[in-house]
Amino acid sequence: MARGLRETGRLDEVVRTCIGCRQRADKTTLVRVVAVREPTTTVVRPDSRGTLPGRGAHLHPTTRCLELAIRRKAFGRALRVEGPLDLSELAGIVETA
Ligand SMILES: [Zn+2]
Repeated sequence: MARGLRETGRLDEVVRTCIGCRQRADKTTLVRVVAVREPTTTVVRPDSRGTLPGRGAHLHPTTRCLELAIRRKAFGRALRVEGPLDLSELAGIVETA
């Protein structure tokens, strides 16, 4: 387990956990996403500039980690949202590796 560092820390820790593969990785290799509520859905928006407000989650920008995160419903849990999620923006930036 973590040695003293908690994901909830507000300090600028450089290591985050990918919500797809659950591996800890340097923050710079992960993409931050935030939930943006729309009338009928919640858009999971990639925060490529690191400026969007709100609760974020981190993910490797790969189809593998995206699919893993979808399969384990990690977005809803990590972003504390319920209901349908629009992942099209995020899907548009991940590598098809
Ligand atoms: Zn990952």
